[in-house]
This record gives sequence, C-alpha cells and structure tokens, in this order.
Amino acid sequence: MPAKPGPPHFATRLVQWQRQHGRHDLPWQVRDAYVVWLSEIMLQQTQVAVVADYFARFIARFPTVQALAAAPPDAVLAAWSGLGYYQRARNLHRCAQIVVERFGGMFPQTARELATLPGIGPSTAAAIAAFCFDERAAILDGNVQRVLCRTHGISDPIPSAATTRKLWALAHSLLPEAVDMAAYTQGLMDLGATVCKPRQPLCMQCPFAADCHARLSGDPQRLPVRKPSRGARPQRSTVMLWLRSVPGEQIWLEKRPPHGIWPGLWSLPQFETLEQATVHAAQCGRMVSQRALPAFRHVFTHFELTVHPLLIDLDAPQQAAERQGQWLSIAQAVQLGLPAPVRNLLLQNMTTAPADAPPIPHQG
Ligand code: SF4
Repeated sequence: MPAKPGPPHFATRLVQWQRQHGRHDLPWQVRDAYVVWLSEIMLQQTQVAVVADYFARFIARFPTVQALAAAPPDAVLAAWSGLGYYQRARNLHRCAQIVVERFGGMFPQTARELATLPGIGPSTAAAIAAFCFDERAAILDGNVQRVLCRTHGISDPIPSAATTRKLWALAHSLLPEAVDMAAYTQGLMDLGATVCKPRQPLCMQCPFAADCHARLSGDPQRLPVRKPSRGARPQRSTVMLWLRSVPGEQIWLEKRPPHGIWPGLWSLPQFETLEQATVHAAQCGRMVSQRALPAFRHVFTHFELTVHPLLIDLDAPQQAAERQGQWLSIAQAVQLGLPAPVRNLLLQNMTTAPADAPPIPHQG
C-alpha cells in the first residue's frame, strides 16, 4: 500500500484542489472576524444550505459585534429561532458582549485567546485565527475527523478522548509551513463537506485518491469507526396547550426558564397530562371548544419528545395567577424566539383549519 499522504504534500495538494474545486462564494468568506465567527458558530450543528438564509438575516439585523452585544436577549433568540441548539445563541450574545467590553470590539487574534471566549471551542478558534489572522492553527471538526481517519487509515473508534488526541496530533503535524492558511483550512472543510462525504464519498474527485488508505482498502465508508450507540434515545412526551382567545384569536405564550430544553424561548405551556392541561385552561377562561391536534416528535440530542398539541378556545380569557406570559396574535408570536416545532405548529395553523391541519413534520 502506498505511503499515507503526509506533509508537505498533503497541504500542497489540498490547497491546489481548493483553489480549483473548492467553494469560493460563501457569504462569510471574508477576513472579518465577526463574520467568520458568526458563520462558524451557525455551522457547528447546521448545514451550509440552511445557515445561508439565517446568516444573511442575522448580519442584516446585527451588522457589527457592537450591535449584537447591545441587543436584548429576546431579539438575539428571535433571530436565531429555528437554528436549534439555543445555547449557541446565548453563548454568541455573551461572547459579543465580552469582545466589546474586554477587547474594545476587536476579536482577539490568536486561537489560544479566542478559545477562552464563550461558545468558541479549539477548532472554531483555529478556523477564525486561520481565516482572519493567518495563524498556523489546526481545525478538527467532524468533517475533518472523517477525512483524516480515511486518508490515514485510523480505525480507532470515535468519539473517544484517545482518538481525539491522536487526531489533533495528526492535524497539527499536517499543517503547512508556508501555504495560504485560509485556503488550507477552507480546503479541509470543503473536502469533508462536498467530496469525502459520510456515505458514498466521491473518491475520484479527491486530491488524495492515489494514496488514501480508506479508498485503497476498497471500502472508504468503513472509516471512521463509530463507537456502538448506547441504544435508542429515551422517549418522553408532553401535552402542549395552545390557548386561543375568541373572537380575538390571540394565543397565550410563556417564556421558558433559562435552563433545560429551549432555554429562554417563548413557547406554548406544557403539561404532563391532558387532564392537567384542561384544568389549567378552565382557570384561564370559559372553554368554548377543545381539539387534539396531530401529535409530532421532536428529536433532541439525548431524548425524543412526542408532543401532543391541545387547542382550546377560550371566551374572555385571562392570565392564570401563577403563570408568566402574554396574549399575542400569531403574527406577533412568530416574531419572537420560538422553538422550531412550535413555530411550525403555529404557522401551519395560521392558514389551515386546525381540524384539517397536516401532521407536523419531524424536526431534527
Ligand atoms: S479518497 Fe475518498 S475516502 Fe479518501 S479522502 Fe478522498 S474522498 Fe475521502
């Protein structure tokens, strides 16, 4: 078997490939740390195609780190709403405030300092430093792990601390001495996203096809080796109470606590049972009608939640004494930071009679 693609040829081939075949028109490909940082945080758990729209709206709403730092938390969550993993938005806001307060509005220029900021891990810090400040810093996101495991035939299971250490060491050893760091870093990202895909990698388009260990083994998809999953996610369920006033057609929304699922977002109140939800509704006004809408599932990292929406129309509604929330029109509600499945539920029912509403699609 040929030698594994090592330095300096690894970097040289990658950069040449990136210049010819890589992506050059992404809106965040600029030497502006605010822009690069924002895109890197958005891309941590989300595909480029999804991020593009959110990114454009977010930058239009918060064009500078100062604007983001000064924004109310609700405005940041509303702009983030739908991207999921809301801790990222909270860290983003906190990070912007620290950059303004401690660094005078200028992002630090080294990966080491960047990694001290909220929400910026070592790979994200390295990407910002490489793209914006030409630092010779290694990235190691999930795509890069896959590329390195395949090119270098690493069959240790991931995720594991030992394999991660090994991959970091490899990523550092492959860093170019005198090559455009932005092109190198972008090349790794592009190769993982567009060619060395998890399934059916496009090996014939790859600059490492001639000596990639995984390709030469005849089964490139075999790598990386994943640790066996710990079984199916635990299942939970909840009743989501959609209180609607008649005839005004306002809805009742409550702000979720700062911890737990959907932290700090506005949402429909949740109950363990239909009975609890109905009793609560009766305390809020005279019940005119009630209807169970189709249940749907939402998948979180550590569990799956089956949501049973219950729509109850109330005459002369009022606020239950112990609840913190507000009555809003749906048009007002969708301007707030809402969990994606709640937003979908409301939007689908803005134009569709609830009895005929289609099932809510599963959300990732
Ligand atoms: S040759 Fe195939 S498996 Fe190897 S790095 Fe390239 S795309 Fe991935």
